Amino acid sequence: MVRVGVIGLQGDVSEHIEASKKALENLGVTGEVVWLRKPEQLEGISAIIIPGGESTTISRLMLKNGLLEPVRKLGEDGLPIMGTCAGLIMLSKEVIGATPEQRFLELLDVRVNRNAYGRQVDSFEAPIRLTFSDEPFPGVFIRAPRIVELLNDKVRPIAWLGDRVVGVEADNLIGLEFHPELTDDTRVHEYFLRNAL
Ligand code: GLN
Repeated sequence: MVRVGVIGLQGDVSEHIEASKKALENLGVTGEVVWLRKPEQLEGISAIIIPGGESTTISRLMLKNGLLEPVRKLGEDGLPIMGTCAGLIMLSKEVIGATPEQRFLELLDVRVNRNAYGRQVDSFEAPIRLTFSDEPFPGVFIRAPRIVELLNDKVRPIAWLGDRVVGVEADNLIGLEFHPELTDDTRVHEYFLRNAL
């Protein structure tokens, strides 16, 4: 049985749980989606989602709860992991604007700039283009990090806002600037979870 874990320490956890449940249902897969707080819950996990929220807080709590190292190890071993917004920051190899105490998983070969959009446009909604779907996707951006560089050619764009890359994948990893969990559209979750089956 598929077991999806949403890192549940801070941020829009319940939204990701709902979206993942719907996505599994749409894919016709039996599975459970768990609120992941402790390393013991990683046993038998098929895929992990790191939600949007506040990356200094998520970083601090993942360290405190002993989740940072085990999740990094699982990611290195090929477990599918998707990070959205603050979750993208947590996944990234290089982060511009990080606080000194922030720790990251450093799994995804991108450089991101935290809080790159600036105050005036700190939150907005815009249609984005997905490489795996013909219809535009509603992109919800909330004080989003910006992907400023793909660090090698293992990293492939999967989402575009105009001519800017706003979502990428590399092997088992997906990182998105935007929040698919805050829409009713489960296409991104379905795309991610297909890898986990
Ligand atoms: N900019 C925020 C951070 O650094 C992320 C914002 C979000 O996840 N909506 O954590």
